[in-house]
Amino acid sequence: MKTDFLIIGSGIAGLRAAIELSRHGKVLIVTKDKSFESSSSYAQGGIAVVIADDDSTQQHVDDTLNAGAGLCNKKGVEVLVKDGPSQVKQIIDWGVRFDRDGGEFLMGLEGAHSRRRILHFKDSTGSEIVRILRKKALESRNIKKLSKQFVIDLIIRENICIGAIMLDEESGKVYRISAKAVIITTGGAGQLYLRTTNPSGATGDGIAAAYRAGAVLSDMEFVQFHPTTFALPGVPSFLITEALRGEGAILRNSEKKRFMQNYHSLAELAPRDELSRAIIKEIKKCSTDHVLLDATHLNPSLLKERFPATYNSCLRHNVDITKEMIPVSPAAHFMIGGITTDTSGRTTVQGLFAAGEVACTGVHGANRLASNSLLEGLVFGARTGVAAAEYSKSANITDIPLNKAERRGTKVSNKSGHISLNTPKINSIRENLKRVMWNNTGIIRSGASLEEAGEIIDMLTQEISNHGLTRKELELANMLHAGGLIVSSAIKRQESVGAHYREDFPKWSGKKRHIKIRKRPPC
Ligand SMILES: Cc1cc2nc3c(=O)[nH]c(=O)nc-3n(C[C@H](O)[C@H](O)[C@H](O)COP(=O)(O)OP(=O)(O)OC[C@H]3O[C@@H](n4cnc5c(N)ncnc54)[C@H](O)[C@@H]3O)c2cc1C
Repeated sequence: MKTDFLIIGSGIAGLRAAIELSRHGKVLIVTKDKSFESSSSYAQGGIAVVIADDDSTQQHVDDTLNAGAGLCNKKGVEVLVKDGPSQVKQIIDWGVRFDRDGGEFLMGLEGAHSRRRILHFKDSTGSEIVRILRKKALESRNIKKLSKQFVIDLIIRENICIGAIMLDEESGKVYRISAKAVIITTGGAGQLYLRTTNPSGATGDGIAAAYRAGAVLSDMEFVQFHPTTFALPGVPSFLITEALRGEGAILRNSEKKRFMQNYHSLAELAPRDELSRAIIKEIKKCSTDHVLLDATHLNPSLLKERFPATYNSCLRHNVDITKEMIPVSPAAHFMIGGITTDTSGRTTVQGLFAAGEVACTGVHGANRLASNSLLEGLVFGARTGVAAAEYSKSANITDIPLNKAERRGTKVSNKSGHISLNTPKINSIRENLKRVMWNNTGIIRSGASLEEAGEIIDMLTQEISNHGLTRKELELANMLHAGGLIVSSAIKRQESVGAHYREDFPKWSGKKRHIKIRKRPPC
């Protein structure tokens, strides 16, 4: 297949880039799931943007820099915050609804924001934005979307990205797509961890593929854990939005005592890393597996109207949040590091662009400010579209014969060649990886726990060395790959800053350095 622009992923960043690029040529969006399935669709709390009279660009920049714990790329933050209002106005013009009181927008408050600046649509903001972006994208005759298509690897010739190797999940067929420019918007990697808020497809595929293609990655040690996710045994963890704390919900330990005021001056609205660590400490202190989020003192009709998804999800598990406290504990939520890009989505590989959660522009520093990532998807998705369009003027669609490895790949059906692992084996390796990432590379780490994680991941990688080309196996290989990269970066950062906390180095050195990694080219 051939196209001008190949976009991998149909979340907010991919859709926004596609809309931009549709004015410049044929756009093909491929996605491994149904097109609606992405973190973007699950985003609840809202999108941070400066539109209130009592707010200013400087205040949003400062809040983002403060949350980022000294490691933000200031120029990137300024771009994010300054481009934000026009990008948000654009999607409102396209039809996105945000909650209003009369004509005025209702602005929510979230952790580490000094102002109410979160636009929201009940607690389903992401799906509302994705609904409209999809509609807008489908209106364009230049945009084509293909679901259930898994990107295995990027095709690189002479250090230029010219397409991708794909798996059609239903037929098992492997094929190539050639493009003038490839834009990765594959989102995060929360599935690497035992407890996560992320959808099942968040397996770090884009990060692993870009690394294999020779792109530089940055800040992989910074994984953000969301402090409050539903925690009942046997129930998959789902997010309890930060906005609930913004409205006044209180954290209590198992003795029903409020504790956050002992840890941080902002109490329940402290940055997420501080909250997550405080909760883990309280959980250990009280020998339990969760703490409690108390919203019972809030107006029941506010809870039902403003947070209908949270209210109903909890009720489904017999917790009526208007009357009962919610059992919560932290879970992996957001990949702060990723593929190094400039503020226009250019990676270090020509022809390869990245935007959204998979990219690392440096705007989140060592810790992301709440509700800045939907904004990131919009702002950098659009800017990446502009840059990829510009790049394409001097690029051709290359018709290059398959190299040896790819020829082998196309021949490998799942019946011959490589050995397909059976499902129990895949599940058991996946479970082991998730467990070691959670226990050894989670909210609190140490040199010893990280070294052990590295050894276990190497062992697990050996076990799948001859895996087949089913989606499950490819995902597992990517998870192991991305997990290994997180571990090796975390080993290198011998200090604690933002989301990266090491017991053996509990203080920040004060040095503003970034850990960058790149696969060595073969000799
Ligand atoms: C439960 C939850 C709540 C959140 N709430 C908020 C919030 O209120 N505000 C906020 O700002 N942020 C929030 N976030 C974070 C935010 O939603 C994400 O960071 C953001 O939506 C990521 O967008 P994206 O376009 O980069 O990636 P995604 O939306 O994750 O999209 C990734 C896409 O890539 C595709 N893909 C992945 N791998 C492959 C492959 N190998 N081949 C083909 N396709 C592939 C996927 O199918 C998907 O279409 C939340 C996240 C979660 C999980």
